[in-house]
Amino acid sequence: MATDSWVNETLYPSWGQRFRVVRELARVQSAFQDIMIFESESHGRVMLLDGVVQITERDEFVYQEMLTHVPLLAHGDARRVLIIGAGDGGVLRRVLMHSNVDRAVMVEIDGEVIRLCKEHMPQIGGSAWHDRRAEVIVGDGIDYVRRGAPASFDAIIVDSTDPIGVGEVLFTDEFYANAARLLSAGGLIVNQCGVPFMQSDELRETSLRRARHFPHVGAYVAAVPTYVGGLMTLGFAAKQPHLDAVPRAEIEARARAAGILGKTRYWTPAIHEAAFWLPPYIAEHLPRG
Ligand code: SAM
Repeated sequence: MATDSWVNETLYPSWGQRFRVVRELARVQSAFQDIMIFESESHGRVMLLDGVVQITERDEFVYQEMLTHVPLLAHGDARRVLIIGAGDGGVLRRVLMHSNVDRAVMVEIDGEVIRLCKEHMPQIGGSAWHDRRAEVIVGDGIDYVRRGAPASFDAIIVDSTDPIGVGEVLFTDEFYANAARLLSAGGLIVNQCGVPFMQSDELRETSLRRARHFPHVGAYVAAVPTYVGGLMTLGFAAKQPHLDAVPRAEIEARARAAGILGKTRYWTPAIHEAAFWLPPYIAEHLPRG
């Protein structure tokens, strides 16, 4: 059904995407951000935060699979996972697909995002909210990592908004210093790091910060259709070397052991390996050495 109602993404002042709207489902000004969820003609249900696309039903699998399976399988035996942000539940659901995960703590600052995603996009989080291994906390991720016990997690996944507004603290030296303290000896942290074709500062500046707290810093990519501007980067920082270069056969064996092989629509062992091979226009924003 063609309507004359459109929503324009407001991420960039001079360029952007728009969605033809079938119907608006929710529009809430929470204590932290403007939350909008609508039914689109082209991408199923879509959530915007402060006018920026966060997830769409149609392509959320790309981003959530890559943000989750890559760090957990690169680590090899992540049993305790901390998720910051990710209020839609998609990362939590995928973390809990891994049979060797014992505990997944998710810290999301805005309870309204959780409530509205459960109501209007329930299949994103699915049954993860009720998994006995899951703990969902409504709070600021920076506060959680400040208080966290040393070596209490094996992997940290930061699925936040961009480093403006409430998300800004999650890209700071203080956050990364505390994340390093919270992680066990073989631990690693990944975070959404924007689309470098349009947001190269986000990748460059946060990679330099991560490099002050982790010895091994890099990034990998995913082609998320609604994160406009080409390849999306995910920051990668680890305490041990070579976690970004685990051979495909080993990744496949780990995925089979974790029970996720064949249960994904974007991630595969080959995509995992290839995602770390960065085109020069992206690699140039990473710390040398
Ligand atoms: N996949 C999306 C992307 O890449 O843009 C992000 C999805 S998720 C909805 C982003 C979440 O981060 C939001 O729900 C937001 O409330 C949360 N967030 C932002 N700052 C935060 C903070 N300081 N602590 C915890 N959660 C935060």
